[in-house]
Amino acid sequence: MLMRIGGKESPSLDDAWTEVKNPATGEVIDRIPAGSADDVARAVDAAETAFRAWKKKTPRDRGMILFHAAENVRKQHTDLAALLTTEQGKPLAEAIDEVRGFANILEFYAGISAQQQGEMIRLGAAGDCLVTREPLGVCGAIIPWNMPVLIMGWKVGPALLAGNTLVLKPASTTPLTNLRLGKILDESGLLPGVLNIVTGSGESVGEPLVKHPSVRKISFTGNVTTGLRIRDLAHQGLKVITLELGGSDPMIVMNDADIDKAVDGAVRGRFYNAGQTCTAVKRLYLHESIAEPFIRKMKERVESLRIGNGLMPAIDMGPMNNAIQREQIAGMLDETRDKNNGTILTGGCTLQEGTYKQGYFYQPTLVTDVVPGSRLVTDELFGPVLPVMTVPDLETAIREANNTRFGLGASIWTSNLATTRRAFDEIRAGIIWVNRHLTVPPEVPFGGTNESGIGRENGHHALDQYSETKTLFLGW
Ligand code: NDP
Repeated sequence: MLMRIGGKESPSLDDAWTEVKNPATGEVIDRIPAGSADDVARAVDAAETAFRAWKKKTPRDRGMILFHAAENVRKQHTDLAALLTTEQGKPLAEAIDEVRGFANILEFYAGISAQQQGEMIRLGAAGDCLVTREPLGVCGAIIPWNMPVLIMGWKVGPALLAGNTLVLKPASTTPLTNLRLGKILDESGLLPGVLNIVTGSGESVGEPLVKHPSVRKISFTGNVTTGLRIRDLAHQGLKVITLELGGSDPMIVMNDADIDKAVDGAVRGRFYNAGQTCTAVKRLYLHESIAEPFIRKMKERVESLRIGNGLMPAIDMGPMNNAIQREQIAGMLDETRDKNNGTILTGGCTLQEGTYKQGYFYQPTLVTDVVPGSRLVTDELFGPVLPVMTVPDLETAIREANNTRFGLGASIWTSNLATTRRAFDEIRAGIIWVNRHLTVPPEVPFGGTNESGIGRENGHHALDQYSETKTLFLGW
């Protein structure tokens, strides 16, 4: 597949290529251009040219194009989802959810397009001011491989509705569905150059995009180390930034919770997308009085998960997306065993026999008796492994929940309103779910505190991150 610049397909100027592999089978499924700084420059030029006309369209006209694109995505959702599973690994049902989620996001922004308004400040004899929001110009978006379609929607929807143009860099292991969606958006009425997609590595495409002087904003989702580098580069150019850097979300289950519902929530919250979700349940805190039956039920459920190629019917969990990611998880479990940092209740190994041989499969894993301060609870566990801890009371649970560098999401499972209120007030995170975890529909602002990042995506709040205030002062 080719990259997209100025509404057209394009190879890289260097005619260099890189392969995309199926993480379930190891087979090469396509090749994409290995772009360079020169390709980024071409894309930024196309985006600058398109910006002049795109910003003059009314928000409603821009919204109608997003709406039309959403319709076209829905018509092709089965093919798009199969492509996503093939490059990313997730089960087809999850891929369908994600593609529909992309359409939902475009429809949400289309739906609020006619509500974009400014304000008027009356200053008596001095005059009147009209205050409005202006688009920033050319924006850059750098996205990861775990939810490449949804995260593309989180950036494309608000950026384009606000009147910006965009250069998007997909992750190297999952560029194909992003490219296909770019084509659908172009064919749905975007002016050529409003959305450009440049493929290639973080170093050869991502960094030149962040450094390009005409790019006014960078929105990045990925790991903390890359995020900090991007922050430093972007600050040198005084760019606006949004950083979504993952999390180590705690899930707290109190003794008045609906246990079966909470077990469902923990299994889905942890093992959806093979655990590779920024808001996945990454640490489970159980009230000690319900811990024994909870862990027993959870173990049964985890051991019954069907693992395999996401394109096969009735699969609950696919492979991990790439070898590096699986090695990271395997390394952490080896360390847990070697240092006696916990009891591996189930799982704890790579799957590499028979049908699993060529893929990046890892067993769904539960660890109990976790030693406080071990990497299982201090690092972001981006894979199908859940450390389970017990707590004597809410106060301890909240203290442990906050004992992290991150602050993306958290959930409290209880039927008590006062418990809910206290958890909401005291847990440091961008979103606190009650009797639920993971769900983020387009209306809901999303983003974290501390090392989870800067800024919010989703919801109408995201439009503020893609626009700036401009004032017309009328001296009568
Ligand atoms: P990265 O941060 O390396 O990758 C995310 C995106 O950034 C990719 O498009 C990548 O390109 C690009 N990139 C990499 N280096 C640079 C750079 N120097 N300048 C600009 N762009 C760059 O994440 P990983 O893929 O390495 O994932 C590792 C860890 O990140 C996970 O274990 C997890 O902890 C976290 N993560 C968090 C996510 C979240 O949703 N919060 C999502 C994914 C990962 P390329 O693909 O070409 O390397």
